[in-house]
Amino acid sequence: MFVDSHAHVDTSRFAEDREATLQAAFAGGVTRIVDPGCDLPSSVAALALARAHPGFVYAGVGVHPHDATTYSAEVRTQLRSLADEPEVVAIGEFGLDYFRMLTPRDIQREVFCAHLALARECNLPCIIHVRDAHDDVMELLRAHGRDLRGVFHCFSGDVAQAEECLAFEGFVLSFAGPLTKQGNALPDVARMVPLDRVLVETDSPYLVPKPLRARRNEPLFVKHVAEKLAEIRGMPLEEIAQITSANATRLFGLGEKNEAL
Ligand SMILES: [Zn+2]
Ligand SMILES: [Zn+2]
Repeated sequence: MFVDSHAHVDTSRFAEDREATLQAAFAGGVTRIVDPGCDLPSSVAALALARAHPGFVYAGVGVHPHDATTYSAEVRTQLRSLADEPEVVAIGEFGLDYFRMLTPRDIQREVFCAHLALARECNLPCIIHVRDAHDDVMELLRAHGRDLRGVFHCFSGDVAQAEECLAFEGFVLSFAGPLTKQGNALPDVARMVPLDRVLVETDSPYLVPKPLRARRNEPLFVKHVAEKLAEIRGMPLEEIAQITSANATRLFGLGEKNEAL
C-alpha cells in the first residue's frame, strides 16, 4: 500500500534488527522500499539488501555530497557496473549540501555533474539531495540535466522553489518527516504539488515524523508522512497511498527491470 521511496536500511543503525524492521514495515503495509547508497560501500550494501528481498527492497547507487571527496574515476566505474544490476533502480543519492558543507562547494558541484552524466548513461532516475543549495542545483540541472528524471528527496523548500523544481518535467518532489512538523512552508507546497508529481519517504534512520518519539526512524513510519499529506489535501489516506505508490513505481520502474530479464 505504501512505498517508502527513500530509506537507508543498509546502515549500521539497523545492524541489530534489520530483518525485523523490514518485516514490520511489510506487515504494516509498506510494499516497497528504495534504499539509496551514500558512497560506494553503502551502494554495494543497498544492492545486497535488495537482492536478499527481491520485489520488496530496491537500491540506488551514488555518492552523497557529504562523502563527495570519496568519488573518483574508480568509484565511477564501480557505480556504473552496479547500475546494470536489475535491483538498482536509481542513481543516488547525490546532491549539494551547503548546510553542513562537509565537502568544499566546488567538489560537490563537480561530483553532482558526474552523477547527472551517470544517470543519463544508465537511463536511470536521479535521487537528489538538496540542503541550502537550491539555486546551485537549479543552475546545474538547467545546464546539464534538462533531459533527466528523478526526485528531489526530502524536499525542504518553499512554494517558489517547488515551482522551479517542478519546471523540470521528469522530476517529482518527495516529502519526509519535516512535513509533519511546524514552522516550515511544506504544507503550502503539499497543497500545490500536482498529485502525479509527489512521493513519500522516511529517510530512515533520520527524521522521525511527529507525533512519534522514536529515537530512530524506520520504513513502517512512512504512513505518518502519508497521513499528513492526506490531511493537508483533504483526501482519504488510502487514496494518497495508492497515488504516491503509483508515482514511485512509475518513476523508478519498480518491477520492470526485473521482469525484462
Ligand atoms: Zn538526503
Ligand atoms: Zn538519504
